[in-house]
Amino acid sequence: MFRIGKEEIDAVARVIESKQLFKCNDALKETENCEKDMRERFGLDHAVLMTSGYAALESALIGMGIGPGDEVIVPAYTYIATAMAVVGAGAMPVIAEVDETLMIDPEDIENKITERTKAIIPVHMMGYPCNMKAIMEIAKKHNLFVLEDACQANGAKFDGKLLGTIGDAAALSFNYFKIISAGGEGGALLTDNKEIFEKALIYHDSSAVAYFGDQMRDFSTEPFCGREYRVGEVTSAILRQQFKKLDGIVADLRKNKALLKEALGEGFDYPPCNDDDGDSAIAITFRFDTVEKCKDFADKVGAVIPGFTGKHVYNDWKPILEKRGAAHPLMDPFKMECNKNVEYSEDMCQKSLEIMKRCAHIFMDSDWTEDDINALAEKIKEAVK
Ligand SMILES: *Cc1c(COP(=O)(O)O)cnc(C)c1O
Repeated sequence: MFRIGKEEIDAVARVIESKQLFKCNDALKETENCEKDMRERFGLDHAVLMTSGYAALESALIGMGIGPGDEVIVPAYTYIATAMAVVGAGAMPVIAEVDETLMIDPEDIENKITERTKAIIPVHMMGYPCNMKAIMEIAKKHNLFVLEDACQANGAKFDGKLLGTIGDAAALSFNYFKIISAGGEGGALLTDNKEIFEKALIYHDSSAVAYFGDQMRDFSTEPFCGREYRVGEVTSAILRQQFKKLDGIVADLRKNKALLKEALGEGFDYPPCNDDDGDSAIAITFRFDTVEKCKDFADKVGAVIPGFTGKHVYNDWKPILEKRGAAHPLMDPFKMECNKNVEYSEDMCQKSLEIMKRCAHIFMDSDWTEDDINALAEKIKEAVK
């Protein structure tokens, strides 16, 4: 899937030749320019590049003023980093069910809201959008922040809007497994909210902002001790080139997915999608009426069943379920008196587990030829005979 090559090599060479690899410089300004490109692309006031998607999630939560005693609702289907970022901010992740779309179930969000709830993190898994209309309505009604985890959905949309632009803030990831990469690792925070931006900027770069004061013109937030999640110019230079390719990649993924569905014809069941036109098409997902049929299919075609991946489902988030929130007990949010009311168990989201064991993903490739697509269609048809 990765379209990475000459443009990225040339961009990295230019950075190295400039001998200015730190993000604050007067040479190429790759980080500054990449953030500017992103603000334009997403139509938002603020974009901050960081070392990872996790860093962006955690910084956004800090920016929202979330901490010990607060609860943040996360879905049963997401990478553990989403829940870890909540613990990183000192708050408690509360796990909500997913519905047949495999995304967070708005109805269960309502069930999970308590007087401690401060935010919802809808996670757009596998490039599929969450039901942002329902989620924003719930958030408004209960006065909650919405932090979109768009780490797997860069380039996808809901109701014509790019994912990451609908909530109060969003996190993107550019690690090597995402649709575009910033040289292996990287992430970004997006927001229109000045207060979230100020706190997140200080938090992700807390020693440098104190020295490079020009980043903090017109700030109303005083510097505080945070983390060091800065990116360097090499990362930003690669990412800037990658962003130029993103729309082309998404267009080709969508085209290939449509061709594959056409070649498959009738007789397949796909999970419902909250916005069929917004899906970034990084995967095609099949739904079965029994776990056995799904497993048999996945074995034959090499598909991934989320209910059995052991990585993206809450019942495998060992450090969370077993409440190990930090190396030092006094720093562990799970051991803080104000956080003592959250409980977890491996079978707490039965409905999600049941759905996730009957769905199988096959990753799409933007560079498939028509022959590749037809061969895959034949293999899939053979598997369900
Ligand atoms: C990859 C991913 C993250 C974390 O991104 P990193 O850049 O690896 O920290 C968070 N949430 C989801 C849904 C992801 O897929």
